[in-house]
Amino acid sequence: MRKRFLVSSALVAAAFTIHAQPPGGRPVHVTLHEGTSMAASMSPDGRTIAMDLLGTLWTMPAGGGVAKPITDIAMDARQPSWSPDSTRLAFQAYRSSTWQIWTANADGSDLRAVTSGPYDDREPSWSPDGRRIAFSSDRSGSYDIWVVTLATGDVRQLTSDPSNEFHPSWRVGSNEIAFVSDRREVPGVYALDGVAPGSNPRERLVTASDGAVAGPAFLPDGSSIAFNVIADGRSRLMVGDPSTHQTAGGFERGRETADTGSLRARSRDDHNIADPDEDVFPFRPQWVSQNELLYTADGKIKRRPAAGGPARVIEFTADVSFTRPAFTPKRRTFDLSGPQPVRGIVHPVVSRDGTQVAFTAVGDLWVMPVGGSPARLTHDAWVEADPAWSPDGTSLAYSSDRGGSMNLWVRDVRSGADRQVTHGAAAAMQAAWSPDGSRIAFSDPEGQILIVDVKGGTITKAHDHLNEAGRASWSPDGNALVVSSLKVYSTRFREGVNQVLRVSLDGQPDRWFDPMPHKSIGMREDYGPVWSPDGTQMAAIIDGLLAVWPVSRDGTPQGSPRFVSTERAGSPTWTGDSRRILYQSDHRLKLVDVASSRVVQDIDPRLTWTPSSSPAGTKTVHAGRLWNGRADAVQTNVDVVVDGNRIKSVEPHRDALHAGTVVDASNETVIPGLIEIHTHLNKDYGEALGRAFLAWGITTVRNPATNTFDTMEYREAFESGARIGPRLFTTGEPFDGSRVYYPGGTSLDDTGQLPLALQHAREYGFDFIKTYVRLPDMMQKRIIEEAHRMGMPVTSHELYPAVAFGADGVEHIRGTSRRGYSPKISALSRSYRDVVDLLTASKMTLTPTVGIQGGFRLQTLKDSSWIDDPRIQKLYPPSVPQRWRDQTRTPASAATVEAAARLVTPQERLVYQVVKGGGRITAGTDSPINPYGLSLLMELEHYASGGLTPAEVLRTATTVSADAMGAGADLGSIEPGKLADFALIDGNPLVNIKDLRRVTRVVKGGQVFGLDELLRR
Ligand SMILES: [Zn+2]
Ligand SMILES: [Zn+2]
Repeated sequence: MRKRFLVSSALVAAAFTIHAQPPGGRPVHVTLHEGTSMAASMSPDGRTIAMDLLGTLWTMPAGGGVAKPITDIAMDARQPSWSPDSTRLAFQAYRSSTWQIWTANADGSDLRAVTSGPYDDREPSWSPDGRRIAFSSDRSGSYDIWVVTLATGDVRQLTSDPSNEFHPSWRVGSNEIAFVSDRREVPGVYALDGVAPGSNPRERLVTASDGAVAGPAFLPDGSSIAFNVIADGRSRLMVGDPSTHQTAGGFERGRETADTGSLRARSRDDHNIADPDEDVFPFRPQWVSQNELLYTADGKIKRRPAAGGPARVIEFTADVSFTRPAFTPKRRTFDLSGPQPVRGIVHPVVSRDGTQVAFTAVGDLWVMPVGGSPARLTHDAWVEADPAWSPDGTSLAYSSDRGGSMNLWVRDVRSGADRQVTHGAAAAMQAAWSPDGSRIAFSDPEGQILIVDVKGGTITKAHDHLNEAGRASWSPDGNALVVSSLKVYSTRFREGVNQVLRVSLDGQPDRWFDPMPHKSIGMREDYGPVWSPDGTQMAAIIDGLLAVWPVSRDGTPQGSPRFVSTERAGSPTWTGDSRRILYQSDHRLKLVDVASSRVVQDIDPRLTWTPSSSPAGTKTVHAGRLWNGRADAVQTNVDVVVDGNRIKSVEPHRDALHAGTVVDASNETVIPGLIEIHTHLNKDYGEALGRAFLAWGITTVRNPATNTFDTMEYREAFESGARIGPRLFTTGEPFDGSRVYYPGGTSLDDTGQLPLALQHAREYGFDFIKTYVRLPDMMQKRIIEEAHRMGMPVTSHELYPAVAFGADGVEHIRGTSRRGYSPKISALSRSYRDVVDLLTASKMTLTPTVGIQGGFRLQTLKDSSWIDDPRIQKLYPPSVPQRWRDQTRTPASAATVEAAARLVTPQERLVYQVVKGGGRITAGTDSPINPYGLSLLMELEHYASGGLTPAEVLRTATTVSADAMGAGADLGSIEPGKLADFALIDGNPLVNIKDLRRVTRVVKGGQVFGLDELLRR
């Protein structure tokens, strides 16, 4: 079969031209001379070097100089390999939602995709005869080495081990391919001989190695092999003699040597030729002669004698120009009054008889007769979540933290009596009632599926850890559960698609059902699969729409999914007659007749919430020291007069200003309430979550990536006063490519779901939009343009070309990357001038999250006293302090601390360089990976230890973040007219940033909360 795809480069150029930006954009021009995590390759004729800086292919003379781009910026072209005649280049590119192998002429013309399909093809190596390209691919359920014949497009699988084989590299003048394998018995470099068409390849071990092995390359005569190994915080360029150890017995396994930098279990004959602290990038080095290697390291292209000795840098310059579009985020309204429509209607479920709908909203449990008005079943500050009807319709199971932690409760709907069913210390969520009413399935924070006997309370385990699976649905016979669960394409990368996992309760093995290959079934929250009560069908949300498919008794799909909604749908539940499904579509609930796809009932819940009123009158905060969010130093003896929820005046103390209520902070430092710009709110923490933020002086949080209805529930609960908590800026579900990782990730391909998802973002008034790592660049560009039209900033993990498209922020110095390595930071945690210059020239914000990249652990190894802080003890699930107590029971050795610091210090240096260069850093943490609140304060401590002044540090969590969210007119500083959000600190964080931990009181919208009050349940 002919599988070659030809794309005219003229057509590509036309389709991917960057449109002129609206007037007022700001031109950005940078000349780069360093590249982070870039690969390079010299043409076999020795004249030209190709490199993949920023995901664009560039060529330059072999001696260095001016590099010229040969691909457009939206290909994410990586890891070039030359054809043997030096006329063409092969590379991996991410034009649509998978990696494919492409080729182009050395000037970029005649661009062709040589592979295609739903799998990822990576790391091409052009064959010596010029007719084939070897690559790695996850086509077989793990990474293997494959080869494509260019003339026919035929692909052939060369390895089949269940482990991952990748980084193929053809030996010049031979039919031998070296590659890396992560096989558990003996990981390392392997080779295949006899890979000519028609012959059977023979495999052998070349050299065993632990650590991350990359880019093996044989010397043409086969007498030597070079490769990269990253382990123990060092990156090495290894050179060895492959003839000395052809079997697994040729090395000592598990040998620890005295040199901490050396590898376990590598051959004694391989030696490192890199400098001790060199940051060798994990790509194929190239033998440019019998005794010299070309490779990339330290942001540079280098040549080094294979026998060792100093390297020579090949300098280059690469010009990058783009125009940042003019964009002003919409202004959020903070002074709402009067009834507001409830947007946070969470997990509606229909009763079996189809007459009633239960859901949670504004922190409470509600039941609404279909066609009637909702009635509130609980009235408390606790969090109620995840209601499920008993089959007979008399009871509701749900989660509540009213007993201390989130546990399952059952309410008798007629009498109103509540009974606690589980009594664990860890959260019990996602209740699902068995068809006979005797059991309830639920999940815990470990991702286990558990089943509780409703009468007796006995708990049994139905399934070990799953990666945040969706809510379970029972088989009609009660012998199995189905859940939406992530199925990865290989163990090498974490992304996959959500499929139906059948969990048998009678000891049979798990089974996967994939009714629509390469599509996500459900979103692993409350989006199906749901099994019809008669057992003949399942329903789930696919591509944002409600779909139904026939199944056999055991759940095996008997046909393709049929879509029964044309609008975005969520939370499907069946009526007992298996004829109708209730689903949620933005602000409304719909009952659809499944057979006809006709909506038979369109339900408007007409539920409202009322913002809590601002404190009446004026009060004066008398600050012994005041830092206003802008100045470099504190002012002393200042009166901040607050009228209602806003600041009326800020002036030197006068007795006359103490006429009314006075908040005496004469011994404290008053600073703007802190902003945590990257946190994900987790219901497992119950009602205490909002107080936990305030208790660390945080009055505003931003949630990038969440369930829309869930996050609206938080906002409405906090703003109505149902629960105490910070102001919340939020997006909804992140926009991702066809493969996803997190639950709720919107899996987008070219099927037209994007307009629906954008419409949903508009309907719900997201404050901003998050795009995720598998989203193709051109879709990201379109989303940025649409989001900006709606007044919403956009942030992602991507630096380039996102920055050129106008993305407003980038999350994490590291962060997950679809490439498997980060173009923002090397494996040794170093970012080079390309990253610094793009950030400082563009003013795109960076949320570094140093804490999750080793920082929080490092600080805790040095000082774990925070574990005993009453805030941690009282407001967090016991597992949080326990986890860190376990990790710090034995004091860390100096060597451990030093190794950890080596990976953190360069990140602190990047933060310093960006701020000093005029760039914008916004402080965030990705909590709850590390504890909410505290982790932000410790993040700021990193910025200080990188060399920023305390005022520069504090701006990253006040004025800079407020401006980034479009809230600079209301938040971030202590100035007349701004919202009265302050943290009162015992000490002076402008002298010692660690004093931030000593919060005494916090003021939000003029309302004062003492620490004691926040700690009281
Ligand atoms: Zn005063
Ligand atoms: Zn995050």
